[in-house]
Amino acid sequence: MVPTIDAFRCDGCGVCVLKCPPQIMGIVKGKAALVTDLCEECGICADLCPIAAVRFKLPERHFEPAHDAYRPLHR
Ligand code: SF4
Ligand code: SF4
Repeated sequence: MVPTIDAFRCDGCGVCVLKCPPQIMGIVKGKAALVTDLCEECGICADLCPIAAVRFKLPERHFEPAHDAYRPLHR
């Protein structure tokens, strides 16, 4: 899972930016941000954030339609 930053909680301290192994994090407008496509999903940023502003997003749930009549036309 790729982490997400809680922008309301993040205070821009930069700890995660300094420790991200592939160096794909930065501070944008005073908040941590990352290039998600290049994230190695190591979890170090979440482990080191002193105020728990890094969250790992749960996988999106895929709901199967209960009946063919509810299936979207583009499928
Ligand atoms: S999970 Fe690892 S690679 Fe991804 S942003 Fe956090 S520290 Fe960087
Ligand atoms: S370590 Fe936490 S509070 Fe500091 S910049 Fe990163 S996400 Fe924000």
